[in-house]
Amino acid sequence: MPVVHIGLGSNLAGPAQQLQQALGELAALPESHLRRHSRLYRSDPLGPAEQPDYVNAVAALETTLAPLALLDALQAIEADHQRVRGERWGPRTLDLDLLLYAEQRLDLPRLQVPHPGLPLRNFVLYPLFEIDPQLTIPGHGPLATLLKQCPRGTLQALEMPTEPLV
Ligand code: ATP
Ligand code: MG
Ligand code: MG
Repeated sequence: MPVVHIGLGSNLAGPAQQLQQALGELAALPESHLRRHSRLYRSDPLGPAEQPDYVNAVAALETTLAPLALLDALQAIEADHQRVRGERWGPRTLDLDLLLYAEQRLDLPRLQVPHPGLPLRNFVLYPLFEIDPQLTIPGHGPLATLLKQCPRGTLQALEMPTEPLV
């Protein structure tokens, strides 16, 4: 089964709990198996500065859902978490980004894969490296090389609030 990587983020309404619940929902997706996930990380907000810190994580999922069907499923989970789309990069209860879909590169109106922010975001690269250090990012080369070029900054791994789900 193809392996995909999903970036999770939240900075509203109990971010760590939002992510724990979302991991359970990813594990319950049809045609899919949650292989593993990173620890939770605290990160500074991207974009508008006047918003709470984020909690981020990355999950690896095996799935036979096609890319757009998977995006639909991720957006349905976001909606279940009462995500309201306001200003770009504004605060949110849950963001689920499709970071990688196996070795595929996609440039569709609704879906760019690899996710365009991946190569430059510490809160994506470090959790991704934690779970899959050997990854190569289509169009960008080894994850380890991208990581070396991206300072960790204030990114901090948090203790898991509960037992890992997988
Ligand atoms: P960013 O994508 O920079 O992290 P964001 O996650 O806040 O910003 P959203 O509001 O979650 O952005 O999504 C905006 C649109 O991005 C979605 O409607 C979706 O169609 C599109 N999109 C394009 N590529 C992807 C992807 N790889 N994963 C998730 N959404 C994507
Ligand atoms: Mg995002
Ligand atoms: Mg998003």
